[in-house]
Amino acid sequence: MKLYDGLYDPTTMYPKLDIPEQRQDEPGLDSKLQPTADHGQDSYEGHGRLQGRKALVTGGDSGIGRAVAIAYAKEGADVAFTYLPAEKEDADETTRQIEAAGRKAVPIEGDLMDAAFCTDLVDKAAVKLNGLDILVNNAGKQVYVDDIEKLELEQVEQTFQINIIAMFRIVKAAMKHLPAGSAIINTTSIQAYEPSEGLLDYAATKAAIANFTKGLAAQLVKKGIRVNAVAPGPIWTPLQPSYGQPMEKLTKFGGQSPMGRAGQPAELAGAYVFLASNESSYVTAEIIAVTGGMPIS
Ligand code: NAD
Ligand code: MG
Repeated sequence: MKLYDGLYDPTTMYPKLDIPEQRQDEPGLDSKLQPTADHGQDSYEGHGRLQGRKALVTGGDSGIGRAVAIAYAKEGADVAFTYLPAEKEDADETTRQIEAAGRKAVPIEGDLMDAAFCTDLVDKAAVKLNGLDILVNNAGKQVYVDDIEKLELEQVEQTFQINIIAMFRIVKAAMKHLPAGSAIINTTSIQAYEPSEGLLDYAATKAAIANFTKGLAAQLVKKGIRVNAVAPGPIWTPLQPSYGQPMEKLTKFGGQSPMGRAGQPAELAGAYVFLASNESSYVTAEIIAVTGGMPIS
C-alpha cells in the first residue's frame, strides 16, 4: 500500500487487526509486536516539505515516534531521537530507516526520569544536527491499573515525570536553540478528553499536555515559534501490550473506534509533518485529533 496511489476507503485501507494474547515488559519493543505495525517505510512518500530542517523526536525508536522520524527524514529533515537502553534494537531500525531516506540520524540513549539527561539530550541533538528547529515531545508511559487503591504512587510519579515534567525540562533546554520559524509538537491523547477508568494517571498527564500546549503557544508566538499537539486515538504500538491495556481490551484493541479498527503509526505521520512544516504557518495552539473518528471537542 502506498498512501498516494489513489482512492482508499479509510475503514479498510488497513485491516482490522487479529491480535493474539501477548505481554511484554515495559518498554515494549516493536520488533516483538504481533502483528507488526506500519511505520511508513514503504507507504509514506516524501515531498520535500521539511528540506534542510533539524528535528528532535523523543521516543523515536518505535511506534508513533518512529513513524514521525521516518516521515521527517523522507521530507528532507535530519533527525535526532531518544530511546531507552532496552530499546536499542528498535532504535537501530529507526536509524536504518532515516539513513535509507538519505538523511542524518542521531540516536540518543537515556531515561527521561533523569533530569540531567532531559537537558543534555537537547544540547547533544543541537550539536550533532548543527541546530534545532523541530521538537517533538512524544515519549510516554502508560500502565493500566483498574483500581485506584492498587495504583501505586510510584507509578503516578513516574508517569508524570516522563509524560509532562520531562516536557517542561526539554522545552526549557531547547529555547536557546530554537530560531523563529521553529515548531514544537507534543503528543497528547484522546485520553485527555475521554479518560479510561484504568488510566487515571496517564490520562491526567495527557490533559496536562493539551493545556501546556495551548499556554506555551500563547507565550512563544511572540518569538515566532509555533506550538501544537496531536491527539492520537487507539494506535497499534508496543505501548499497548507492555501493560498499557488489560488482556481482554488488548485483543480487541481499536475495535471501539468509529473506523472499527486500530490506527497504524504511519497514519499519524501526516499530522506531525503538517505541524512542523511551513504549510501550517498560521496554525498554533491547535490540537489535531487522529482518532479514527472519536471527537475531542
Ligand atoms: P511506544 O512505546 O512505541 O513509544 C513510547 C516511547 O516512549 C518509547 O519508545 C520510549 O522510548 C519512550 N519512553 C517511555 N518511557 C521513557 C523513559 N523513562 N525515558 C525515555 N523515554 C521513554 O508507543 P507509542 O504509542 O508510539 O507512544 C508515543 C506517544 O503516543 C506517547 O506519548 C503515547 O502516550 C502517545 N499515544 C499513544 C496512543 C496509542 O494508542 N498508541 C494513543 C494516544 C497517545
Ligand atoms: Mg519504544
